[in-house]
Amino acid sequence: MIVVMKQDAQMEEVEKVEERLVEMGFSPHRIQGTGRVVIGAVGEQKVVFPTGLEVLAGVEKVVPITAPYKLVSRQSKEASSVVRVGELKIGGKELVFMAGPCAVENEDQLLTIARSVRATGAQVLRGGAFKPRSSPYSFQGLELQGLQMLKKARQETGLKIVTEVITPQEVDLVAGYTDIIQVGARNMQNFALLREVGRSGMPVLLKRGLAATLEEWLMAAEYILAENNFQLILCERGIRTFETSTRSTLDISAIPQVQELSHLPVIADPCHSSGSWRLAAPLSRASVAAGVDGLLIEIHHKPDEALCDGPQSLTPENFENLMAAVAPIAAAVGRSMPGNAESRITEDL
Ligand code: PEP
Ligand code: MN
Repeated sequence: MIVVMKQDAQMEEVEKVEERLVEMGFSPHRIQGTGRVVIGAVGEQKVVFPTGLEVLAGVEKVVPITAPYKLVSRQSKEASSVVRVGELKIGGKELVFMAGPCAVENEDQLLTIARSVRATGAQVLRGGAFKPRSSPYSFQGLELQGLQMLKKARQETGLKIVTEVITPQEVDLVAGYTDIIQVGARNMQNFALLREVGRSGMPVLLKRGLAATLEEWLMAAEYILAENNFQLILCERGIRTFETSTRSTLDISAIPQVQELSHLPVIADPCHSSGSWRLAAPLSRASVAAGVDGLLIEIHHKPDEALCDGPQSLTPENFENLMAAVAPIAAAVGRSMPGNAESRITEDL
C-alpha cells in the first residue's frame, strides 16, 4: 500500500506514520514526490482496509497497490523517475548514449574506443571486465585489470562508466571502479546479486532476462528498490522468440508498456537484441520513437578482432552514422541529443 501525505504534512507526522508502519510489520520507503511525501509500505502480510493509518495526522489517503511489484510501480510514484549519475540525468529530456566495447580487452583498445565515443557524444562508456559467457572456454574478461582500465578511461575522458557484476561477492569491488553497475540478462533473477547491488546504493542498470516476462523483470527490479535503492535504469535487450535470423527479438512493445507500469527510466540495447551491427541504427530509431531514455551500443574499432560480440559491434564511424540517424527521430518525439556532441566532434578533429 502507499500512504499519501497531505501537501502541508509536517516531518514529525511523516515520521509518526513510518513508526506506525514499522509497528504493523511493514518496511516504509519514503518517496519525495512533487510537493508531497508518499510512503510506500511493503511487507509480507496482507493489508486489511481500513488500516487505521487513515486517521493519523497529516495523512491524506491510504491506497492499495494492486501490482505485485510495489515500489517499482507507477501506482506508488506517478512522476517518471530521473536517475542522476553526477551531473548526468537518465530519464530527462536528453537521450543518454552508453557506448563502448563488449569486453575490455587491453588499455589501448579501451582508450581508443573511449576517445571515439566521447567525440561522437556518448555520455557513458560501457565495457565488461567480468563477462558472463555461455561457454566456459570463451574469454571471461580481464576482471580487476579491466576495472582499472575503465577507471583510467574515465579519468582521461570524463565519461561515466557502466560495467557488469556477476557475483554478489564482487559487488563492492566493482562499485569502487564504476558509476553504474550492470546486472546482465543472465543474472536478472540472481536474487542474492540483486539484493547486493541494491545495498550498494549505486545506480544500477538491470537488463531484461532472455526469457523474462515484464512482470518477472519488474519483480527483479523490486528487489533492488526494496533495499532502498531507487537509482535503477531498466534495459530492454531482446527476448528469445522462435525467430532465428536475429540473436534475440527486440521487444519494442515492452518500452511503452513498462513505462506505463513503472516510473523507472528505460533504455534499449539494439546490439545484443539483434546480434548485428547493421540492425543497430534502425532498432535505435524504433526504440527512440517508442520512448526510450537512452541506448546501449557496442563499439569496436576493429570488430573483426573483437574478443566478444564483434558481429554486433559498430565501428566509431558507424556509431557516428547511428547518432545522425537517431537525431531526427529524437527531435520528432521531443527528446534532445547529447548536449555538446557537436562541439566535442569539432574539438577532437
Ligand atoms: C552485455 O551487455 O555485455 C551483455 C552481456 O548483455 P546481456 O546481458 O544483455 O546479454
Ligand atoms: Mn556483448
